Amino acid sequence: MSLGVDPGLSAGLELVRRPIAATVLARTVLNRQLVRVTVGAPELDRFEYTAPDHLVRIFLPPQPGAALVLPTTERWWPELQEMPDASRPVVRNYTVRAFDPGARRLGIDFVLHGHGPGSTFARTAAPGDRLGILSDGADYAPPLDTDWQLLVGDETALPAIAAIIEQLDPGARALAFIEVGTRADELHIPRHPGVRIHWLHRGEPRPTNCDLLLRRLRETALPTGRPYAWLAGESSLVTSVRRHLVTDRGFDKSHIYFCGYWRRMND
Ligand SMILES: Cc1cc2nc3c(=O)[nH]c(=O)nc-3n(C[C@H](O)[C@H](O)[C@H](O)COP(=O)(O)OP(=O)(O)OC[C@H]3O[C@@H](n4cnc5c(N)ncnc54)[C@H](O)[C@@H]3O)c2cc1C
Repeated sequence: MSLGVDPGLSAGLELVRRPIAATVLARTVLNRQLVRVTVGAPELDRFEYTAPDHLVRIFLPPQPGAALVLPTTERWWPELQEMPDASRPVVRNYTVRAFDPGARRLGIDFVLHGHGPGSTFARTAAPGDRLGILSDGADYAPPLDTDWQLLVGDETALPAIAAIIEQLDPGARALAFIEVGTRADELHIPRHPGVRIHWLHRGEPRPTNCDLLLRRLRETALPTGRPYAWLAGESSLVTSVRRHLVTDRGFDKSHIYFCGYWRRMND
């Protein structure tokens, strides 16, 4: 399975900027909490893939088993708003973890967190199931003068962090802090000589207001040189880490990408 951009494959082809109908080809269990759903579509040879945190919006039927009706134009958002409730698809955000334009298929790693249409879809996805997918750009963009990278996230950011590490130049240096439930939720990431990964286990059940990752980061001596930080995951984790980097570590705000991938309720 190829991963990353092969400009040659899409050169000269018009890229697809509206939801395309895709079919589930396979469901692979990666660990007890993560499954990879591989989907295929004829138009995936024109799917725009630009960076390892490439966002794909997935469109699911309004209820499991209901018909999937997709917006048909690049103005997909207003189209979606105008659809009747009964047929309007549910839209969720995911990362393209594996992409093979030649085979016209891509893989998405879903966290099975036990609620919501995205997680429910992944728990039961089977070959032949239909969904819509829309390429929606990427954000990972370390400046050219970056000396080292800091990658921080939870399970939802693990697909992007794993892809970033896989696609790093051989001479790059990075520190990754990844928070998961227990050791069983870690994932194999191919070794890169310049990368050190810190797995952090918050325990089960998920503690409220967990600041494990922030505490570990505070205790860690960071490399010297110009950093680039990529932070994603639960919203409060991301904002607290960003605050620490800017306030206590002197990071330049413009060299930090951060995104709350989901928000914990009932805090
Ligand atoms: C750019 C981007 C990329 C993303 N990439 C991925 C990815 O590759 N893989 C992935 O799994 N997620 C990814 N996410 C996060 C994902 O979009 C959210 O977790 C989303 O809420 C899942 O939708 P859902 O339908 O399962 O749950 P929702 O219907 O959105 O939420 C239902 C309930 O579940 C809770 N919840 C949502 N996510 C989690 C979670 N991870 N753990 C515990 N509780 C949760 C919510 O607080 C809510 O109470 C990404 C988000 C963004 C913005």
